[in-house]
Amino acid sequence: MASVTVVGSVNRDVVLQVRALPRPGETVHAVGSREGMGGKGANQAVAAARLGSAVRLVAKVGGDARDILASLAQDGVDTGWITTADRTRTGLALITVDEPGENTIVLEGGANRELTVADLPEVLTSAGDVLMAQGEIPPEVTGAAITRAANQGATVILNPAPAYAFDDDVLKRVDVLVPNLGELCTLLGVPVPATSGEVGKLLARHPLPVAALVVTLGADGAIVHDQDGTVHIPAPRVAAVDTVGAGDTFCGALADSLVRGRSLRAAAERAVLAAALSVTGVGAQSAMPTAEEVDLFAQ
Ligand code: ADP
Repeated sequence: MASVTVVGSVNRDVVLQVRALPRPGETVHAVGSREGMGGKGANQAVAAARLGSAVRLVAKVGGDARDILASLAQDGVDTGWITTADRTRTGLALITVDEPGENTIVLEGGANRELTVADLPEVLTSAGDVLMAQGEIPPEVTGAAITRAANQGATVILNPAPAYAFDDDVLKRVDVLVPNLGELCTLLGVPVPATSGEVGKLLARHPLPVAALVVTLGADGAIVHDQDGTVHIPAPRVAAVDTVGAGDTFCGALADSLVRGRSLRAAAERAVLAAALSVTGVGAQSAMPTAEEVDLFAQ
């Protein structure tokens, strides 16, 4: 079976729940806290693996990541291409979440910053595979992975998060770009529209040299924009308790469906279901659904 290769970040998440986010100079008491596994690369790898895909993660961690590697392996992710920078710490995300669910995140790249092009396997993918990349590792590594996988006949998905000015030569090799609304607007250099109804207009004249776009819109679902047109896929109504990792669940689910040969629209429909399920549980990886759970939810 074709497989999903993720080239991306691994982080440890420290999440502090507060009543209100601290202002500069202010100290506030947390009302709860938890530690979890994160990083967009690791999260998307776990999301696709839970849905049943064969997944390989290419990443770099610090010497303190034994528990993280064990957890990834437990989820069935092939960790054979994860290298260790012994004298560096694994990436760290310090996340503060207030009562309405607004958050701030401080990211320390740590070992993710030491991932180099030389760490990428020569045979990164095979024809029919899917390559997933994001923005949390050095741009030249993301660019090299995308180019190599495209040359090897893989379907390339880029989740431009965080968004920065990706080279046009790299974007041209991307089959599906998957930004959230904020990231799309950063890439286009336009303000975030007041309603998601205006996104269609943005997409109608976007200058990005990618074959297809899937824009995630939080509780409003997602929009697929490709040569067949623009389609809005609404999200089912759920009782959302924690939306951290929703976008990663979406991307992992999209990769899982595309590697199985589903159409982009069918893949996005399933990703909307998987991501909706993920917001009903606490944590990023801990709340990602299995294929059976998505199948049941779809009925
Ligand atoms: P990110 O997590 O990257 O900011 P979004 O907020 O757009 O991305 O969420 C990604 C996907 O997760 C959405 O396209 C949607 O399918 C799902 N999702 C997010 N929030 C909710 C919600 N409150 N209810 C249902 N689905 C949601």
